Amino acid sequence: MKVIIAGGGIGGLTAALYLHKHGVPCQVFEKVPKIQHLGVGITMLPHAISAMNELGLMEPLDALGVRTDRMIFRTRGGQEVWNAPRGLAAGYDVPQITAHRADIHQVLLDAVAERLPDGTLTLDAAFDAVEETGDGVRVTLRRADGSTFTAEGDVLIGADGIHSAVRRHLNPDEGAPRWSGLMLWRGSLDWPKVLDGHTIINSGGIDRKFIFYPIGPGKTPETQLMNWACVVRQAEPGAPTPGRESWNSEAKAEALHPILKDFTVPETDIRAMVDATPVFWDFPMCDRDPLDSWTRGRITLLGDAAHPMYPFGANGSAQAILDARALGRLCGAGGDPAEVLKAYEAERLGPVNEVVAGNRTGGPERVIDEVETRIADLPGQRFDDLEQILPFEARDAIVNGYTKMAGFATEQVS
Ligand SMILES: Cc1cc2nc3c(=O)[nH]c(=O)nc-3n(C[C@H](O)[C@H](O)[C@H](O)COP(=O)(O)OP(=O)(O)OC[C@H]3O[C@@H](n4cnc5c(N)ncnc54)[C@H](O)[C@@H]3O)c2cc1C
Repeated sequence: MKVIIAGGGIGGLTAALYLHKHGVPCQVFEKVPKIQHLGVGITMLPHAISAMNELGLMEPLDALGVRTDRMIFRTRGGQEVWNAPRGLAAGYDVPQITAHRADIHQVLLDAVAERLPDGTLTLDAAFDAVEETGDGVRVTLRRADGSTFTAEGDVLIGADGIHSAVRRHLNPDEGAPRWSGLMLWRGSLDWPKVLDGHTIINSGGIDRKFIFYPIGPGKTPETQLMNWACVVRQAEPGAPTPGRESWNSEAKAEALHPILKDFTVPETDIRAMVDATPVFWDFPMCDRDPLDSWTRGRITLLGDAAHPMYPFGANGSAQAILDARALGRLCGAGGDPAEVLKAYEAERLGPVNEVVAGNRTGGPERVIDEVETRIADLPGQRFDDLEQILPFEARDAIVNGYTKMAGFATEQVS
């Protein structure tokens, strides 16, 4: 079987590496003419790291990122709601790693260049059209100058992100991604180490949230490359998107000043953190309604093209990587190509659609909303006894219920 992949992001490249591991030839066609160092931090949860370990890529990721050993959830007013170990400290066999998206992407690009035949990845090649020829697919790719060329294979995998052209080919009437009504600002900067330098701090519920965590070494031994994100509700879910979400729309610190003064974060001055960030980006947080099917004949979808999701729960890249692992294994086992794609969809669609739905209500961070809702009428919106507001069992059910549903409870990660 020869596989054509549209999209050379985290999902497409991981799929190429897994296909190669299982002896299946592939070609990856990526729209951008030049890979750019875009994006900010990504959390690689233990199920994603376990897959990277299988591919022999855990070491380089570990070397460039930061191991997370604790996660703290707080109300916007600074009261602790959840504080638990993560990664190795939580009993996993592999760490949880946070890193710059561009660094993770580079590790995958390097592995593809080293392991797969020359010419596997073609840049400046946007998926344009596909024709099923009876015993395969003929894919038309378009260069930035408008010229086109074709490639042939047995199946086409659309790994071309939230604005997937392959998904549009399969679902021409679907329309644009759905805005959550939430605006997301993200940036990174050199910043003094917070706590032990291995902690994710997440303050506030879904409508007003500030998160920060380190994603790499700093310029001095006392600093780290710190990633932050701020979320604010601006409209109801499903409202018209205020512009196309892209990873390079620059924002201004002044827009955040009135919001930041609502937060109490004991460990660091978040307004100073935002003010010191040389450049950062805003991004209307979008997903799409889950599909009943990703596959038609010899064409299917993977990663954000199949199931774009809100970043609550940090599962976007992990679920794309799990798709890639399943696809590689099933293609490697052989059989009728259309049946292989159906088996891939049967394995992945149900579980991942649950994650998309879970993230719409905040993922594990919903526990903060539950507490904030219950204390809304208390003086200063503060509680005296968290157990009386929301007992441990209820908080555990939200946080660890999400972990199980998304497939990364300790017993689920091999
Ligand atoms: C530039 C960029 C920066 C990002 N930064 C962050 C971040 O900081 N934090 C975060 O949580 N998530 C970020 N993401 C999203 C995150 O990478 C994904 O949610 C997740 O990793 C799933 O990956 P994916 O491969 O399915 O999708 P993506 O990572 O979006 O990759 C899709 C790829 O397909 C390419 N493509 C698009 N259209 C076509 C086409 N017609 N033909 C061929 N190729 C096409 C895109 O250029 C891209 O390389 C970013 C995505 C991109 C593209």
